[in-house]
Amino acid sequence: MLRRPGRHGAGLEPADHELRDFLTRAAQPHVYYEAGTADADALLAERGLVGAELPIVLEPGIVHTGATIAKLAQAWSQSNAPSQKHYDVVIVGAGPAGLAAAVYAASDGLSTLVVEEDVPGGQASHTSLIENFFGFPEGIGGAELARLAGRQAEKFGAELVLLRGVVSGRHDASGSVVQIAGGHEVGADVLLAAPGMQWRRLELDGMDELLGRGTYYGAGRSEATQCGGDDVVVIGAGNSAGQAVMNLGDAGARVTMVVRGDDLAKSMSAYLVERIGRHPQIDVRLETQVTELHADGGHLAGVTITDAGGASLRRPATALFACIGGTPRTGWAADHGVRTDAKGFLCTGPDLLDAGRRPQDWEPDRDPFPLETSIPGLFAAGDVRSGSTKRVGSAVGEGAMAVALIHHRLAELRR
Ligand SMILES: Cc1cc2nc3c(=O)[nH]c(=O)nc-3n(C[C@H](O)[C@H](O)[C@H](O)COP(=O)(O)OP(=O)(O)OC[C@H]3O[C@@H](n4cnc5c(N)ncnc54)[C@H](O)[C@@H]3O)c2cc1C
Repeated sequence: MLRRPGRHGAGLEPADHELRDFLTRAAQPHVYYEAGTADADALLAERGLVGAELPIVLEPGIVHTGATIAKLAQAWSQSNAPSQKHYDVVIVGAGPAGLAAAVYAASDGLSTLVVEEDVPGGQASHTSLIENFFGFPEGIGGAELARLAGRQAEKFGAELVLLRGVVSGRHDASGSVVQIAGGHEVGADVLLAAPGMQWRRLELDGMDELLGRGTYYGAGRSEATQCGGDDVVVIGAGNSAGQAVMNLGDAGARVTMVVRGDDLAKSMSAYLVERIGRHPQIDVRLETQVTELHADGGHLAGVTITDAGGASLRRPATALFACIGGTPRTGWAADHGVRTDAKGFLCTGPDLLDAGRRPQDWEPDRDPFPLETSIPGLFAAGDVRSGSTKRVGSAVGEGAMAVALIHHRLAELRR
């Protein structure tokens, strides 16, 4: 891939950043060449592409000039329409929960459609190395895990529709009908909601204006490798923030970790706390907040950090990564009468019983199944579910478990 030179030599221009992020999260191996370097110039000359619109993606025998995510997705047929009008199971979201459900549903012989508005992998696709997932002692990249899971699901006959979101739907006792971006509509006996979470936004003047020009949500492998030798700031104290500072520190960045709380161990796995503590490149600032962003030439140049006593210090920073958790993607739930908890996560199973009483308007002559929502036949798995453990392993486990429960629902419908 050839891209425009970055303003600060870091190559983090917004459009190029999105494209690179897409390739990384789609587990597509690639090499970058910065336009204007000798290697890039030689390559352009060799391919007769001098003056062609950047960024350029070169594949064997194919050239994509002025490359965008949409163009690549179309070229790679990743954004096909569903092939059937009706499925046994439609799964919304191809994160770990949705992909696991797809593998088990399809391998059980159910006609299965997975609809994903992005590339597969969900939050895990932003993770450079998942070290605590069962069966991978050396860890596995989130994008790679998603790629393998997607392939496995397809091998069993599941259909994956990518880069198209579910935009609306309706559910009743006989099943669900969902509308998919691009004007497609499919029916399903059972719907599994696995839309996960969206990272929380940082309310800070300039954050949005500088997005992609020094401020970022999350921090993946591709960003880390761009930041060697730079001063960077990471906000957050969860495992995603922990992994981000380790990636950045290992890449040679001077990392300031800004933590609102007084103890990292309250929110982060012990192994990460221990590694961060002895990393020479990482400076952890407890009980502090970033209170100001400073820009130079439209790019982040520094931040002001303020501690609990009100003392402020200004630090240089070419990048700020906000890794501050997220909110469930359940904006649709209220309109469909799907019960959520106070934070918006979907309530399921026993949580729906009020002193043993079933939800209002509940029709089946049984209690809700463990991962079933307040709408019979609408299941939920993974991070979106109230009370779930926000981990890849748990999401995968819930995806698998949902399929076992879906069989009970299908038997009920077909009785
Ligand atoms: C940076 C980072 C690092 C992490 N590291 C670890 C780790 O090391 N170990 C660990 O166990 N966990 C880790 N986690 C947590 C883990 O990634 C999540 O718990 C897991 O991905 C949850 O899976 P999920 O399938 O429930 O949801 P998600 O991963 O959030 O996936 C949901 C998917 O649904 C899609 N979607 C949403 N709405 C729609 C719609 N309307 N139509 C179509 N698609 C839709 C989204 O695009 C997304 O792809 C990390 C998380 C982050 C952010």
